[in-house]
Order: sequence, then C-alpha cells, then structure tokens
Amino acid sequence: MPAQLIDGNALSRQLRAEVAERAAALTARGVRPGLAVVLVGDNPASAVYVRNKVKACADSGLHSVLEKYEATLTEAELLARIEALNDDPAIHGILVQLPLPAHIDAHKVIEAISPDKDVDGFHVASAGALMVGQPGFRPCTPYGCMKMLESIGVSPKGKHAVVIGRSNIVGKPMAMLLLAANATVTVCHSATPDLAHHTRQADIVVAAVGKRNVLTADMVKPGAVVIDVGMNRDDAGKLCGDVDFAGVSEVAGWITPVPGGVGPMTITMLLVNTIEAAERAAGI
Ligand code: NAP
Repeated sequence: MPAQLIDGNALSRQLRAEVAERAAALTARGVRPGLAVVLVGDNPASAVYVRNKVKACADSGLHSVLEKYEATLTEAELLARIEALNDDPAIHGILVQLPLPAHIDAHKVIEAISPDKDVDGFHVASAGALMVGQPGFRPCTPYGCMKMLESIGVSPKGKHAVVIGRSNIVGKPMAMLLLAANATVTVCHSATPDLAHHTRQADIVVAAVGKRNVLTADMVKPGAVVIDVGMNRDDAGKLCGDVDFAGVSEVAGWITPVPGGVGPMTITMLLVNTIEAAERAAGI
C-alpha cells in the first residue's frame, strides 16, 4: 500500500490559525508580536525566503520589520543593528537571514542576538538549552518535523530514529529533539560507511542532506515514517527533496512531499517561536 502523505501545507494552515488567535489575544492586551528580519546582500534565494517570512507574519497578524542592507555593510554596523533590535520593545524575535557575506562572522552575529529573541534557535544558549532539556527556542525546521510526527500520532518513544545529516541547524537539533522524545537515535553523515544498513532499521528517517536520492526504496523499512528536509532541484529544475519520493512511497508508511512538506512548517514554527517570545515578554 502506498505511503500516506504528511501534508505540511495543511498542518501549517492549522498551526498558523492558532498563531493568529494568540497574536490577536496579545494585540488586544496592547502587545503586538513583532519579528525583525535582517537581510544583508543580494542572494536571490535569501530574498525569496525573507519575503515569505514577512508575508507569513502579515497573514497571521504579526508585526514585522524587514531590514535590508547592501553586501558592503560592515560586521560592526550589523552588530550595532542587532544591539538596537535587542533593545527595541516592539521586536520580540530577531532573524538574521543566512548566509551572510564572507566578511561577516555569522557566529558572532548570531551570538549577539539576545537569547530571549533568538526565534531561529541558533544561539549557543538555545542549543545548550536543547542539549540539557531546558526551555528555549527550538530551531524551526526540526521543531516542524516533530510537529509533523505529532500530527500523525507517531510518538518517537521507543522507536529507532535515523537522522541523515549533522548540521547545527537541522541534523543535530533534530537528533536532540528525537532523543528528548525518547527515541533511540542514530546520526549519519558523509563519513558513514553504509548508510542503508542504518536506515533499514529505522522506524523514523529524517533526511537532511541536500542531495537528491540519498534515500531510495531499498533503504527503507516497510511502514517507516520518512521526513524529507532536503531542498534540491531535479534535472528539469523542479524542486525536490533528498528522498526518491516515487520509490520510497511504495515502502514507507508515511512520507513528506517536497514541496509542501517540511518547507512550510519551517516558516510556521518561526511564527510559533515569535508568538512564544512575545508571550514571555508580556509575562504570559
Ligand atoms: P548542510 O549544512 O550542508 O549539512 C548536510 C549534512 O549532510 C552534513 O552533515 C553532511 O555530512 C551530510 N551528508 C552529505 N552527504 C552525505 C551522504 N552522502 N550521506 C550521508 N550524509 C551526507 O545542510 P543543512 O543546512 O543541514 O540542510 C540540509 C538540506 O535541508 C539542504 O537541502 C537544505 O536546503 C535543506 N533545508 C531545508 C529546510 C526546509 O525548510 N525545508 C530548512 C533547512 C535546510 P558532513 O557533516 O559529514 O559533511
């Protein structure tokens, strides 16, 4: 039987409706949740991501500010802007769109964001909080993947989860979230000798690599949940994930499509984190 789809668009609509309700309740109390999005340079993909984030804020009743700077902006100037946003009471979340131009140290910039406004969850304080099981902002993409599992009633508890990829923004926090949810977690990466050996044992596979067809049908246990984080282009230039969707759909129990899977969930969780930041600032 072909796998059931985990529809990221439908789940996003549901979660964004909840965000809009919380935003309206906060606004009625005189606190309009606000997100600042900072874009440096003219990377065309970044411009699209940033536009989508600003639009998502407007659609859910959040206030947003888009700060666009030339690629020549200095690191010191950017750090000064972050400091000003940290002090701005109308701003509850700060997002610096990555990548930054090479002359700017992205790590330094992320660390300059107040952990209370770190809605991307990339600050070392947020990563540390996740590591030790303390409250803090969870990185939006893996947080969205956890919501997808929840939405289909699959608890990671007692399951074997395999995460392919170990980046700081997806793979590692994904592994931590699954571990916190009591899964037994294996993390694979480019130096893993026999990827299929691991994925074939997995009840849950999360692919976060950035290469087409990293996961094919022969690598998947029948009935497994497959979450595809990857964003790639096929030969025809169409958006596709890391997973051979057609083949794996015949074996898996559940699968996320690309597009329409993890992508919309990432922006949705950014809105959720921003609302949470605003509620905390308002003492709720
Ligand atoms: P990244 O920083 O490039 O990390 C990729 C990871 O994949 C690395 O850990 C790398 O291992 C591993 N890897 C590379 N080749 C491999 C192979 N053949 N087998 C197993 N592992 C391999 O990428 P990222 O930022 O995590 O993003 C991953 C993908 O997700 C990209 O396509 C990105 O565009 C997409 N993405 C999507 C969303 C969304 O909202 N849908 C959000 C974020 C990212 P090493 O560590 O050993 O190099």
